[in-house]
Amino acid sequence: MLVETPALHENETNPWLSAEARFNRAADLLGVEDGMRKVLKSPAREICVNIPVLLDDGRIEVFTGYRVQHSIARGPAKGGIRFAPDVTLDEVRALASWMTWKCAVVNIPFGGGKGGVICNPAVLSQAELERITRRYTAEILDYIGPERDVPAPDMNTNEQTMAWIMDTYSMHVRHTTTAVVTGKPLNLGGSRGRPEATGRGCMIVTQQALRRFGLEPSNTRVVIQGFGNVGGMAAKLMSRAGFKIVCIIEYDGAVYNPRGLDIPALMKHRDETGSITGFAEAEDMDRNEAMFLECEVLLPAARENVITSANADRLRCKILCEGANGPTTHVADSILQDKKVFVIPDILANAGGVTVSYFEWVQDRQGFFWNEQLVNGRLEEIMVNSFRDVTAYGDKHEVNNRIAAYMLALDRVQFAIRLRGIYA
Ligand code: GLU
Repeated sequence: MLVETPALHENETNPWLSAEARFNRAADLLGVEDGMRKVLKSPAREICVNIPVLLDDGRIEVFTGYRVQHSIARGPAKGGIRFAPDVTLDEVRALASWMTWKCAVVNIPFGGGKGGVICNPAVLSQAELERITRRYTAEILDYIGPERDVPAPDMNTNEQTMAWIMDTYSMHVRHTTTAVVTGKPLNLGGSRGRPEATGRGCMIVTQQALRRFGLEPSNTRVVIQGFGNVGGMAAKLMSRAGFKIVCIIEYDGAVYNPRGLDIPALMKHRDETGSITGFAEAEDMDRNEAMFLECEVLLPAARENVITSANADRLRCKILCEGANGPTTHVADSILQDKKVFVIPDILANAGGVTVSYFEWVQDRQGFFWNEQLVNGRLEEIMVNSFRDVTAYGDKHEVNNRIAAYMLALDRVQFAIRLRGIYA
């Protein structure tokens, strides 16, 4: 039987329009006046570079890259750089604005930025990726720096990418400047706890949400989409903390075990075979259906626009913890609200990563490094307080968590802009 997929609303999957819809709602409720609204909404700077890169076979290719600095009102711009074939300026813009709101929600002294290079890392060698990274860094060099804009990893970039950016920047300014990027290798100015930070933050806010439902980890079934830096770490830490991770969904399949998956064993299987599927201690299942399993917690940690007006009503979770940036479209928000799904919005749920990036930047600037216990303890304190701030704001203003998080963030950024005044 042919099941017809309902059509999405026009422009539903444009992340900048999703960001704008939530922004407008929060600004309306806060009564932000027109001029301030324009300042808060407009990205402060958008850089577009076309970078020539020598490929291994001797050909030259030109790649397009972006760096958007949405806001520097509360501190240097901050945010990752992604490498993907479908990067668009609107996407980078939205992601940059989400960084502004995210840093404000967790109250760390940064603005928001994001970068992207249109390329397909799957077909590029390490040497080609290094040349792309270095040339991109050289082109945006005047606009980044510990006091200006501090990049970090995002989709398809990692510690090695950050080491190349740090080196390129340092060669140009003629001294080693570790604080120009975060998410670096541990022995090169990186922070303990950074690789796990986003997943750990997701776990901490989920634990806070469980209390609202009187749930214990042991009777909490979790479905996770994505098994990379965010999803994989969240799965590992949450299973260790006693949650029942019943399903992992990846781009090439899904695995299900109602009694809970052995996450370290699944990771080993994936490393050995290149896929999570075919794992002996679980059943393979249709990856397109797995998101609709009945569970207490659904944790999308892969990419944008996976929960839309076409499928939101099929979700059967109590809590939606948004590990990815922008996994839910703005049109799906009201469907989730009607279904009374407790949403922990991305700008709160995945803020653990940038929070430990902040710790890394502080440690680099001090040249004094913290032990893991200190990093994790401070992360926990910030995530618990931010969860409390957002939910208390929501209860007070009778809005859902997403709008509460946006309102809280807009209010904090607006406050900074007011105090600084408009420079003329
Ligand atoms: N890319 C991550 C995010 O979206 C981390 C950003 C950072 O650490 O600056 O939050």
